[in-house]
Amino acid sequence: MHELSIACSIVETVEEVLPDENSTVKTVFLKIGAMSGVVRDALLFSFEVAAQDTRAAGAVLEIEEIPVVVHCDPCGKDTELGNPPIFRCAFCGQSTAKILQGKEMEIVSIEIEDGKAANS
Ligand SMILES: [Zn+2]
Repeated sequence: MHELSIACSIVETVEEVLPDENSTVKTVFLKIGAMSGVVRDALLFSFEVAAQDTRAAGAVLEIEEIPVVVHCDPCGKDTELGNPPIFRCAFCGQSTAKILQGKEMEIVSIEIEDGKAANS
């Protein structure tokens, strides 16, 4: 499954940034473009599975979905596409496939809980 390999790489990245043995991951903030091909629910489920028995276990995935935005060369304007996306400029009607955003899939930030500071 596509999402499972993404989830595994998120877990790997997260474990790399943990400063020490006692710290755990609280929240992982992600950006997922509408055209990234990532299914939100599948990723949430995959992450839970991938994070089991790692230091990312129990972390919450906060997913921000990024709409697709295309750029129109003739009028220079940007259009946010709906769902399903229709690749056309909203201002002049020209069809365009010049995608400015919506394909990304990235970790924005990671919230870490310091084991030593917690419960004190
Ligand atoms: Zn246009």
